[in-house]
Amino acid sequence: MMRIAIRILSLLAVLFLLACAGSALVARKESAAITSPTPVKISDEKSTTDFDGERAFAHVKAQVDFGPRSAGSEALEKTRQYILRELNSYGLKTTLDQFTPLTPKGKLKMANIIAELPGESPEIIVIASHYDTKLFTEFTFLGANDGGSSTGALLEIARVMASARPVKTRLTYQFVFFDGEEAICREWSQCLDGKDNTYGSRYMVERLKKTKQLNLYRAMILLDMVGDKNLEILKEDESSRWLVESIWGTARRIGFNEQFPNRSHTITDDHIHFLEAGVPAVDLIDFDYSDDRGDFWHTKEDTLDKLSPQSLKIVGDVVILSLPVIESQIR
Ligand SMILES: [Zn+2]
Repeated sequence: MMRIAIRILSLLAVLFLLACAGSALVARKESAAITSPTPVKISDEKSTTDFDGERAFAHVKAQVDFGPRSAGSEALEKTRQYILRELNSYGLKTTLDQFTPLTPKGKLKMANIIAELPGESPEIIVIASHYDTKLFTEFTFLGANDGGSSTGALLEIARVMASARPVKTRLTYQFVFFDGEEAICREWSQCLDGKDNTYGSRYMVERLKKTKQLNLYRAMILLDMVGDKNLEILKEDESSRWLVESIWGTARRIGFNEQFPNRSHTITDDHIHFLEAGVPAVDLIDFDYSDDRGDFWHTKEDTLDKLSPQSLKIVGDVVILSLPVIESQIR
């Protein structure tokens, strides 16, 4: 994923800006920073689910144990088989959606993994993560958080939803594991006219367009870098507002305001292809992955010790408990 700009506006900063200028730009930033979510009443006011943070964490460890998992690598194939085994064991129907895009390294075999949980309606909500890790040759990049955490959380969300139906869902769910999110070149937009990234999500949206299935897709929730011990997921500016407010409203209702604060940033990630195709989408990403020693993102420091099962559970619970709120807004 690429960070365009972190825009963290405290209420004070907004007030300062408002005091200094009355422009439309300021008004837009103000709405991003201080608009409160529309309260949504749901009948089932649960505050937790069967999502097991330790189980999700064990999935992250299993991936890290395979080693660096860049697109086309043997370790990624092992990861793919692991994900498929898990999903099949939950009783979900799985599809391996293979494709062979041209990359700066030539043609690379990639595959998205899709597991489906049928609902009363054929309309679909996607919950997604990328499972590849960024290619580095100069150091061992384990991607515990970047690639590993969201994949572990998504497996556990799939298990919980497939087994217990902890919340009543009407729509069909697809749990989608994207290949090739990371750029092959060092920088996100360095190669292939800026298309050397998000291979899996770009391919999936193109396929849905070609097969005229895109209209079934009503929402997409993307998870990325969700395991940091110091979890803080900001509202992503490009994401669909109603999805953001549904999720942040749920987080606030169950007591996780601190982990889902009312501040925003702008991130380019797998959700953009869905947004560009007209599918509402939201990116849940904690991009502040650092401590006083520095930033762990895309470094050899992206290791298991920076993560916690509790953070994974918070994200899992918030996502699962948001679904009735989201569904209530899909007619
Ligand atoms: Zn990354």
